[in-house]
Amino acid sequence: MGTFDDVMENARYAAHEAGKKISNTADIAGLKLQEASIRRDMRAVYEKMGKDMYKKIADGIVSSEGYKKEVSLLDELSTQLKMVKQLIEKAKGSIKCPVCGQSCTNDSIYCKKCGNKLK
Ligand SMILES: [Zn+2]
Repeated sequence: MGTFDDVMENARYAAHEAGKKISNTADIAGLKLQEASIRRDMRAVYEKMGKDMYKKIADGIVSSEGYKKEVSLLDELSTQLKMVKQLIEKAKGSIKCPVCGQSCTNDSIYCKKCGNKLK
């Protein structure tokens, strides 16, 4: 997604194009690309709004009323995500940084804490 200005420019262009007579398949293909691009931008804006809303609910700024199912689903999914990430770390194995003692994955080249070269 581009900036808000890009989104507005796309919308203005699409509105301008909509006013012209559509005469051939190339025009239609171009407009379909515009449509897909606008839908992508809208999805990204909706996603950002959703994330902001979830954070406001989690921080207690906004009531979860009306979003109870979605909030508990997101809580559950984020717990699952943490568990899967831990399993990945465990499967990779770990090594301790000889300089700072940080536990790093076996495939790490540098320590994630102090930057010491591990391999
Ligand atoms: Zn280190």
